[in-house]
Amino acid sequence: MATNRTFTMIKPDATAAGNIGAITKMMEEAGFKIIAMKYTQLTPATAGKFYEVHSERPFYADLCKYMSSGPIVAMILEKENAVADFRTLIGATNPANAAEGTIRKIFATSIEANAVHGSDSDENAAIEGAFFFAKTEEVAA
Ligand code: ATP
Ligand code: MG
Repeated sequence: MATNRTFTMIKPDATAAGNIGAITKMMEEAGFKIIAMKYTQLTPATAGKFYEVHSERPFYADLCKYMSSGPIVAMILEKENAVADFRTLIGATNPANAAEGTIRKIFATSIEANAVHGSDSDENAAIEGAFFFAKTEEVAA
């Protein structure tokens, strides 16, 4: 059976608010298996590299400052149809537009401090996972 992976971060707002446990519980209850996990803090430079794709956007400088403002939890998750199903679980970027019951609806405080990151494609999931984890740190499914 084909399996599939995505990459997520619990962002500084949700980590600081003590929501790591509640958020990972929602991920697990939705069928995602955590195969790599790291509690760490980005520097402004590494946040800038991670979000390089947004470097022309007006919110880029603020985003890099925010994403390096405190600890985050990076994870590789496994589930069938992981990328799309995880985007559904987290909800819209702006929590004001996020569906009821989604992680961002419950935990996000603004469009910037929106609790979690979720990869937007299989290709980016692989790139983003490799940004934080060596292959040997992933547990075989
Ligand atoms: P992510 O990539 O973090 O999962 P996303 O794919 O829903 O979020 P993107 O468009 O990739 O949204 O934006 C990346 C991040 O930049 C957002 O999650 C949010 O933290 C921040 N961001 C996006 N749009 C805005 C905005 N208009 N103002 C401030 N911050 C924003
Ligand atoms: Mg994105």
